[in-house]
Amino acid sequence: QDVVNKIAAGEIIVAPMHALKELLENSIDAGSTSIEILVKDGGLKLLQITDNGHGIERDDLPILCERFTTSKLKNFEDLMSIGTYGFRGEALASISHIAHLRVTTKTANSSCAWQAHYQDGKLIPAKPGQSAEPKAAAGRLGTQITVEDLFYNIPNRRRAFRSPSEEYAKVLDVITRYAVHREGVAFSIKKHGETGAGFSVAAAATKIDRIKQAYGGTVAKEIMSFSTDDSRWGFRASGHATNANYSAKRTTLLLFINNRSVESSTVKKAIEQTYQLFLPKGGHPFVYLSLEVEPNRVDVNVHPTKREVHFLNEDEIVELVCANIRENLAKVDT
Ligand code: ADP
Ligand code: MG
Repeated sequence: QDVVNKIAAGEIIVAPMHALKELLENSIDAGSTSIEILVKDGGLKLLQITDNGHGIERDDLPILCERFTTSKLKNFEDLMSIGTYGFRGEALASISHIAHLRVTTKTANSSCAWQAHYQDGKLIPAKPGQSAEPKAAAGRLGTQITVEDLFYNIPNRRRAFRSPSEEYAKVLDVITRYAVHREGVAFSIKKHGETGAGFSVAAAATKIDRIKQAYGGTVAKEIMSFSTDDSRWGFRASGHATNANYSAKRTTLLLFINNRSVESSTVKKAIEQTYQLFLPKGGHPFVYLSLEVEPNRVDVNVHPTKREVHFLNEDEIVELVCANIRENLAKVDT
């Protein structure tokens, strides 16, 4: 059974970035306004995330890493109106099957923090011979999750990662996307053993500040905001996109659907087409697009391994969003 669980987990968590995305979304779900990340060897050796969210009750710790343990879904209707990122209760379980996992957490009504270690979905002792029960520990309000030696028990996968810096870049990419999207939340990432943040943004930073910190001054300087909605298709869209003065070798698309970072080749293609008229020399834009659609119209993560997202009336919605961007592009003098 553990082998089956390990294989399933390895399909959900393919690289450090996938573990990080799940942990980051959990921290956001917990209402955190500060999220700090520490990484060693691109996340393969160490991936640690410390938040100041509402924490986890001590009594919930024993089953925390069992599959389908989630505090976010109470009934079928909830599934149709997911306001939080998680709803499958599979992330921590998966991680516990393919890495060493430690959780330190404190809620507001607990006088101390609690620390627990996990393996294969279950509590394990911190050291052989000790009790597996959570131990009282020092700690501030919030949760710290430490993931060490990712894929330690899948040697082939482990070997397939040639360059920690490539994995680090992908981890950083996940963070900068959420840093742009989530105003009011401070983010930082550091490489273990190095002073100075690899990236950081304060809670008070504005949207433009966030884009500037994460994607550079050139992008932030040539950016315009846009927004549109249509009740026929039940959507609202808003975002920031570069104008015709900006041109890059590749398109950068930060796409959020109902606050979840997703991939969509349909949206990407349509946006690239939109800019073709305005960037004749084959240049590409930076676009941050936050799309809100009625939850029952999206199939965000029907299957956890699926990164590509689809929603009802995709073509109509994408066309309207692109028309809106086009109007804004036409307005800007170049
Ligand atoms: P899901 O997010 O789908 O519910 P996860 O496996 O990601 O499943 O997390 C399981 C549960 O652990 C969550 O429902 C939540 O109650 C708790 N949890 C995980 N991370 C945090 C965190 N950073 N702060 C507070 N609670 C957390
Ligand atoms: Mg989750």
